[in-house]
Amino acid sequence: MDISLLPFPSRLNITSINKTEINGEPVKVIDKTLGREEYELSVCDGAVTVRASGDEGFFYAEKTLDQLKYQYGNMMPEMLIEDKPKYEYRSFMIDCCRHFFSVDEIKKMIDLCAAFKFNKFHWHLSEDQGWRIQIDKYPQLTEIGSVRHGTSLGKEVNNADYGGYYTKDEIREVVAYAKSLYIDTIPEIDLPGHTSALLASLPEMVCGDKKVEVKKTAGVFKDIICAGREKNYEIIFDILDEVCELFPYEYFHIGGDEAPKKQWKECPECQAKIKAEGLANEEELQGYFVNRISEYLRNKGKKVVSWNESLNGGNLNGEATIQFWLDGEKRYEKYPDHDIIVSDFFAYYMDYPYEMTPLKKTYCYDEKIAKKVIGVEAPVWTEYIPDFKRMTYLCFPRNIAVAQTGWCENKPSYEKFESDLCNLMGMFDTTDWAPKSDWNRNQLAQKIGTAKFFIDKLNKDFTKQLIGNMRDK
Ligand SMILES: [Zn+2]
Repeated sequence: MDISLLPFPSRLNITSINKTEINGEPVKVIDKTLGREEYELSVCDGAVTVRASGDEGFFYAEKTLDQLKYQYGNMMPEMLIEDKPKYEYRSFMIDCCRHFFSVDEIKKMIDLCAAFKFNKFHWHLSEDQGWRIQIDKYPQLTEIGSVRHGTSLGKEVNNADYGGYYTKDEIREVVAYAKSLYIDTIPEIDLPGHTSALLASLPEMVCGDKKVEVKKTAGVFKDIICAGREKNYEIIFDILDEVCELFPYEYFHIGGDEAPKKQWKECPECQAKIKAEGLANEEELQGYFVNRISEYLRNKGKKVVSWNESLNGGNLNGEATIQFWLDGEKRYEKYPDHDIIVSDFFAYYMDYPYEMTPLKKTYCYDEKIAKKVIGVEAPVWTEYIPDFKRMTYLCFPRNIAVAQTGWCENKPSYEKFESDLCNLMGMFDTTDWAPKSDWNRNQLAQKIGTAKFFIDKLNKDFTKQLIGNMRDK
């Protein structure tokens, strides 16, 4: 008998070839010997019995039972499931900055991800192209920083103002909603790079006296926060204080990716800081910057997560959790001390088309890139995702492949995963999901689709920026 479950449980034993008719609600038994997210589910003699140590375990058992009911109705095979997750950190990320998504859309995404036992929602709230969270002490962050005057992202080129932000009440609403589905919401305030919207709002934080605008285009920009100016740390701490109040969880993401060092090299204040702190160079200045922010957050009971570039200086303290996205080879040797969350660019970035990242590639990616992998995350960046429909298409079903990797100690074969997926998809509204014909295209279609994706991004601004970036190197 081939039972379909997503994610597939650690252990499933069919205990009888006979089916049993289930009447009545499951019997819940509290068993404190089980872990926080662990559960046991037995179907036997007309009854379903669930054992768990608390609410999370019962919730995950309920999600499993939903899938069993969908397949068998109330005539179920007798079985015993003993189940617990492989990783404590099973996450999906939404970039709400390049494009803005409503509270209802975010809740829909949370709903779907909860069905596959994700337990973290990483909310990307600040970017070059928009600041998306209300901060009372600095209202200019949303007055100025949440609106860009025009958009030039791929074929989407116009001069219209584009913006949006979440009020504190809306943030609380999303956090509470996710919590009700046992998902912790982790905010990301990206520092010191990807900060054009912040610098447009608070020009006193820029190196020198350059005027920065909220960006209309995608890319990596030279405008980053001056790490030499003491006052800047005070402003950052004020902002973090308000953000921390809204997110009652241990982890806090501080970005740290793609921070070009050109301005720090030229800035007398940054150079003075390097000298005063005995740092070797600008990469070490980033390590110093992240360490200071980490220390501040640690004193507030938080654990910092940072993208892997923060390691480049070699002086990052071991407490930061590193989110790996792109970093060449020899990773296993490179990350001995840090907890690692895996979000490989080539396998887990949901914003790329199926032609570039087929479902099978996402599913089969070996996430054990370091000694201390604590979890996996599927990020969706939204430069080229103008609406929720497109996001859903790109994330489903690929997100489920990441969910399965995050949950299953002994992951079933891709073929079994795909068959389970086909058997269970009818439980969900799959109108906007990628159809099966798109999941794994043949090699030629993959090449054409990937080429087309990149050609579509080539507009005048993008080309200018590429050339500009090359010149700076
Ligand atoms: Zn500076």
